Amino acid sequence: MTSIDDLPVRDELRGQSPYGAPQLDVPVRLNTNENPYPLPEALVERITERVREAARHLNRYPDRNAVELRTELAKYLTRTGGHPVTGEQVWAANGSNEVIQQLLQTFGGPGRTAIGFEPSYSMHPLIARGTGTDWIDGPREPDFTLDTQAAVRAVTEHRPHVVFITTPNNPTGNAVPAETVRAVYEAAQAARPSLVIVDEAYVEFSHGDSLLPLLAGRPNLVVSRTMSKAFGAAGLRLGYFAADPAVVDAVQLVRLPYHLSAVTQATALAALEHTDTLLGYVDQLKSERDRLVTELRALEYEVTVSDANFVQFGRFEDPDGTHAVWQRILERGVLVRDNGVPGYLRVTAGTPEENDAFLDAVREVKKELSA
Ligand SMILES: *Cc1c(COP(=O)(O)O)cnc(C)c1O
Repeated sequence: MTSIDDLPVRDELRGQSPYGAPQLDVPVRLNTNENPYPLPEALVERITERVREAARHLNRYPDRNAVELRTELAKYLTRTGGHPVTGEQVWAANGSNEVIQQLLQTFGGPGRTAIGFEPSYSMHPLIARGTGTDWIDGPREPDFTLDTQAAVRAVTEHRPHVVFITTPNNPTGNAVPAETVRAVYEAAQAARPSLVIVDEAYVEFSHGDSLLPLLAGRPNLVVSRTMSKAFGAAGLRLGYFAADPAVVDAVQLVRLPYHLSAVTQATALAALEHTDTLLGYVDQLKSERDRLVTELRALEYEVTVSDANFVQFGRFEDPDGTHAVWQRILERGVLVRDNGVPGYLRVTAGTPEENDAFLDAVREVKKELSA
């Protein structure tokens, strides 16, 4: 049988593995930070209407510049982000993963470097690799916060072309204060003109505010967002960013023409019409997230402060102990995530019933292991 290594693939891809969160068929799936609530029926109806209309024109290419969608995304950001954003400042693609890929194709690439503060979102280094961008592991404190001085030192020393700051961070859950982002941006620009990407995939779940206001006067700052989490539309594949209009112009150089299908644009526009209902679910998830934190702490776990729709908890004897706990929770029908952070697991906030099932499983496993 032919294997990848028998093929003439690029040298840097040899021996690597693809992104692979397990997609297992278990009753309670709390492992990929999806929103547990299906879209409301009224929205499903509206999507059907808008897609039916779009279907009448599928003989033509879609709006290459997705102008209506970008305008509506800008309105949403302006309304909820504490900062006015125009359609010219917004760019959309098939998930924020594609947004990040386009940014790295434009600002990274062979001979260039990107830095992230690990542990963080595993797709950032993977997309860097795919675009030929060298990856630098930046420092994070033992409690998973970002130390401003350490982050500034790393950026000053390595002079990266692209800087990633994920806030709230995945998989740890904690947010990065605005003053840290300001300091890292200054240090990055002092080292060389570089792009700073603030990944706000989870910001709607935060106790704090969006960092969109930092866009003012910072032409090399990008704030990326997604409809996969708060909007409960992971299956839609719609991510977007806000930045200076020049950054939007720059990614036009690498984006594939007509990358966002007319069906995707129609569906996203329908979802945006139902923003208030969807953000209502976010409120429920935030209180369930807080409940998970409280209950896990009551069980004497170490729980990282969470501003996201998931909670990181431990500490387990690593690495075997961590995986054994993951396995025992799975045997009780609940799938959580072992992100490879030594001693910790991550659980996504689900419905109240799903969270109860998770907490029951954890209590049983804890009792079993201390017996
Ligand atoms: C889930 C997630 C995304 C979203 O990716 P999509 O491609 O939009 O589904 C982006 N960034 C982080 C940190 C995430 O956890």
